[in-house]
Amino acid sequence: MGKPTGFIEHRREVATEAAPLVRIGHWKEFATPLTEDKLQTQGSRCMDCGIPFCHTGALISGMAAGCPVNNLIPEWNDLVYRGQWKEALDRLHKTNNFPEFTGRVCPAPCEGSCTVGLKDTPVTIKSIEKAIIDKGFDEGWITPEPPEVRTGKKVAVVGSGPSGLAAAAQLNKAGHWVTVFERADRVGGLLMYGIPNMKLDKKYVQRRVDLLEAEGITFVTGAHVGVNYPIEKLQEEFDAIVLCGGATKGRDLPIEGRELGGVHLAMEFLSKNTKSLLDSEHADGAFISAEGKDVIVIGGGDTGTDCVGTSLRHKAKSVTQFEIMPKSPDTRPANNPWPEWPKVHKVDYGQQEAAAVQGEDPRQYLINTKKFVGDENGNLKELHTVLIEWQKNEKGGFVPVEVPGSEKVYPAQLVLIAMGFTGPENTVLDQLGVVKDERSNAKADYGKFATSVDGVFAAGDMRRGQSLVVWAINEGRAAAREVDRYLMGSSNLP
Ligand SMILES: Cc1cc2nc3c(=O)[nH]c(=O)nc-3n(C[C@H](O)[C@H](O)[C@H](O)COP(=O)(O)OP(=O)(O)OC[C@H]3O[C@@H](n4cnc5c(N)ncnc54)[C@H](O)[C@@H]3O)c2cc1C
Ligand code: SF4
Repeated sequence: MGKPTGFIEHRREVATEAAPLVRIGHWKEFATPLTEDKLQTQGSRCMDCGIPFCHTGALISGMAAGCPVNNLIPEWNDLVYRGQWKEALDRLHKTNNFPEFTGRVCPAPCEGSCTVGLKDTPVTIKSIEKAIIDKGFDEGWITPEPPEVRTGKKVAVVGSGPSGLAAAAQLNKAGHWVTVFERADRVGGLLMYGIPNMKLDKKYVQRRVDLLEAEGITFVTGAHVGVNYPIEKLQEEFDAIVLCGGATKGRDLPIEGRELGGVHLAMEFLSKNTKSLLDSEHADGAFISAEGKDVIVIGGGDTGTDCVGTSLRHKAKSVTQFEIMPKSPDTRPANNPWPEWPKVHKVDYGQQEAAAVQGEDPRQYLINTKKFVGDENGNLKELHTVLIEWQKNEKGGFVPVEVPGSEKVYPAQLVLIAMGFTGPENTVLDQLGVVKDERSNAKADYGKFATSVDGVFAAGDMRRGQSLVVWAINEGRAAAREVDRYLMGSSNLP
């Protein structure tokens, strides 16, 4: 701890962001990082706690408290404070293969459990993480490091999201020949075709993929294992298989009018938008446009927020976001104490932007959609809703009960269903005969990652259900260790 009084002397500062009305005019990232001086000052706020909750990653009340990849946060906070950036980068890479992704998109459970946050605002951990890795790339400190010795073993990774990439990176480090199979035309999973460009610029995803390729990993795109690439071929040619196919089956809303033109799952909207942006800066028109439309986003989570931000960049006429739950409190309630993840009201980038354009937050709470109504051409024209209350039933569970007289009709030409995900797609799991858990994910114990099929492992969302990039990295790394142990009898991977 370089400066014992740092947290008393200095206030928290984070990166500044472009004004909402400016940034909705483009698809680029919009944060301006703090200067190095300011970051050093922010690093000095870290107390180097005896028990640093920021890096525990423990599950408390079912949520991560602290960093799920156990980043050595107090160490690199101190190194940044002292201006030892290269050493900070070494520490960061010890636990996290891809800090440029987490530094941009992680919700930062580390900050939710930072001890300074108990009485003051937490250390600005996420901004420091991003600054360390961005500086590492800018300074040319990050270069390909292929393994010196090859084991001759071959591993196939199915899926190129953060879990697949982390597993591949670690297995390659251990000297195995790794091939990553991806059905899409670009590598990166939801880093590429889920999270929009303004949150994570795809040039950073590609930069890391290029680095992994230079280290000896082979990427095969357009290879949909179990569909246009037989699973038997994979089993014949590889000594082990790691399934990292994600959990992207969207939860649908099968109500009257679902078949109308203009009603889409959020992922179709988001992935087509990014592909068209990357392919032709939208000149090919191969995306679902929100331009000039009244857009309703059903779902108040992060995917819904990405739909709000994307629709505004298309120049939607209006954007409204429905949330079936009540608005969260502004401060931690008594039953959600530090160091738990704070379940408080958030105004994310999409809502800030909608408020700037429309004069108010786009979210409507405690609202349920009853039916979609179309015009004579089969296109959506309006949406019928009702407000609900959550009431306790005789079993003690909460159930939604409609509020009489609260029916409302919203004009809408585009509806985006962002109600979460129901699990992984079944093709590969079924063809391999992998046993699934009760939530339809690949059944494989955390820590072991072995499925019911010998030599087949599972990690990331395909094993745990839709989660976070940081958990995918955690699982990819840990699964790689188990695969290495399976192939070699023991493992030196962290
Ligand atoms: C819109 C959206 C926004 C999000 N925003 C954030 C955020 O801001 N922060 C955050 O931490 N998390 C966010 N998440 C969650 C996060 O992206 C995921 O938890 C994470 O990407 C999971 O990684 P994964 O590697 O397990 O799977 P994925 O990233 O889903 O990757 C799986 C890959 O496997 C491929 N695949 C599947 N089956 C096959 C097959 N049979 N053959 C070949 N390839 C196959 C898929 O095409 C896909 O590319 C977001 C999710 C969504 C949907
Ligand atoms: S909990 Fe906060 S103050 Fe303590 S070591 Fe972690 S970042 Fe520093």
